[in-house]
Amino acid sequence: MNPIRVTIWNEYRHEREDERYRAVYPDGIHGAIAQGLGLESGFTIRTATLDEPENGLPEDVLMETDVLLWWGHKAHEEVDEETVNRVQGRVLHGMGLVVLHSGHHSKIFRRLMGTSANLIWRVADELERIWVVAPSHPIARGLDRYIEIEREEMYGEFFDVPPPDELVFISWFPGGEVFRSGCCYTRGSGKIFYFRPGHESYPTFYNPDVRKVIANAVRWAAPTDGPPRVFGNQAALPSG
Ligand code: ZN
Repeated sequence: MNPIRVTIWNEYRHEREDERYRAVYPDGIHGAIAQGLGLESGFTIRTATLDEPENGLPEDVLMETDVLLWWGHKAHEEVDEETVNRVQGRVLHGMGLVVLHSGHHSKIFRRLMGTSANLIWRVADELERIWVVAPSHPIARGLDRYIEIEREEMYGEFFDVPPPDELVFISWFPGGEVFRSGCCYTRGSGKIFYFRPGHESYPTFYNPDVRKVIANAVRWAAPTDGPPRVFGNQAALPSG
């Protein structure tokens, strides 16, 4: 089987501009995700960042990408509209998209959802317990009943997204909040997975279970050789 071509896109500002975050992710968040995926077979991995030409995602890179991962936070507005258009077009034509944590507010995720993607949040070094609510789903493969992350940011409901096609995870936080933290969508021919954890001040992307989820999500979101999508006026098929 051909390897899945993965592009890990990271805004890459926090880690460059602030020593606190660089201490957690010396090679950037994209570097930590790439390291985790690299432990598994079946992927060819490249990374891209906001400040590269064309936001690191020119047409040729996207055409060679089966699944795009997206982490952004403070510079969503600096992503060019042309970049958002290119990524949206590729998703509609079958490229998978895995949106991580604060990527919920990225232009591309809001474009694809058609909603604000707003939520409530709090950074207070709290435990996150991520319950698997679809144990037979391929993104839950190899996990226990729940994942625990010792310290994370809280995200809580209401999460202003369309009801997911499939919900794989629900997070619980000690403040009493819950959150739909693993949401599957399709848009056109493309599969989209939103996964909640991954605040820049916590070592979440080194967590083996989080890495397992990301690898599973990439495999799930990869394009499949389905039938061609045919539209428009058509002659009748032979009746028999
Ligand atoms: Zn965050």
